[in-house]
Amino acid sequence: MFRAVYLQKTDAGTIADVRSLDESALPEGDVLVSVEYSTINYKDGLAITGRFPVVRTFPMVPGIDVAGTVESSASPRFKPGDKVLINGYGVGDFHWGGLAQKARVKSDWLIPVPKTFSTQNAMAIGTAGYTAMLCVLALEKHGVRPEQGSVLVTGAAGGVGSISIALLAKLGYTVAASTGRIEETGFLKNLGATQIIDRATLATPGEMVGEEKWAGAIDTVGSATLANVCATTKYRGAVAACGLAQGLDFPTSVLPFILRNVTLYGIDSVMAPYAVRSEAWERLARDLEVDKIEAVTQVLGLDQAIPTAHDILAGKVRGRVVIDVNR
Ligand code: NDP
Repeated sequence: MFRAVYLQKTDAGTIADVRSLDESALPEGDVLVSVEYSTINYKDGLAITGRFPVVRTFPMVPGIDVAGTVESSASPRFKPGDKVLINGYGVGDFHWGGLAQKARVKSDWLIPVPKTFSTQNAMAIGTAGYTAMLCVLALEKHGVRPEQGSVLVTGAAGGVGSISIALLAKLGYTVAASTGRIEETGFLKNLGATQIIDRATLATPGEMVGEEKWAGAIDTVGSATLANVCATTKYRGAVAACGLAQGLDFPTSVLPFILRNVTLYGIDSVMAPYAVRSEAWERLARDLEVDKIEAVTQVLGLDQAIPTAHDILAGKVRGRVVIDVNR
């Protein structure tokens, strides 16, 4: 038997509880992982509360992040005792995920935990950090350089936002942080931001093109904020868009793209090819000061996963939440 967060679909919506399940209930897969840590990301909040239909089949064990030790493997790539992680690939939405003490998964989804990280470190980073790195890689590959000016991060006090700030600052960029929590100025400056912007100044539709402020940007909130970010990005600059915390609309014009030659990169972590994931994790091992991320991470037990899912959608979570599934 193992403990898990369990989601069921009813006429009244999604119901979540923590219960014991038999190992025989686990889905198909060639590797059995003894899970040590998972996380609560925004998407886990949507899944557990049922606020948005991210879960494709029920019953579901949520948790888009998994880190633990291989217990048994029918794949030659992994052996018992290996430390492994998964981000996305549909776990937690169409295949049972990491908010459980066991996970049976496809070996193709597993990434070895980089040697410099513990399994807890790997989940402090989690999908948020891996996505932040995908955004940074998009800006780097575009040619955004520190000497070209500031890089803006929106949704700054959240998971993707806070790790983006830490990564950009370590790489020598000047970082501006947009937040609705001005009281978190100290937290954001400790991560490496030098300019704090009230997110209210970006949240409503503005000029189609405005003052050129940003050499690049990482946007986690979408909607009018993303439109305003594109409108104030410098000539030939780039914006990496990964989120929808404000909304999934995008009320913009073509002007930033055809007058300013701004490039908008879409970032998807869920189905990113294996080589892209490996590159991101190698760069995280090289460029992320993991102590900084551990300092903004709370570690909670499995029973706290459901209340924390509600908190993250209410914008009450700062930094990262790791779930110790054995606590
Ligand atoms: P968090 O909840 O940790 O962070 C989101 C942040 O957005 C909040 O902390 C808050 O920052 C800001 N925010 C919340 N509500 C609003 C609002 N109404 N208007 C403007 N800003 C708001 O979530 P994550 O970091 O886990 O994820 C961030 C986003 O990125 C989510 O939309 C998520 O779905 C998406 N995502 C996408 C991925 C992909 O593969 N494309 C992968 C991972 C995440 P503050 O308080 O500082 O204003």
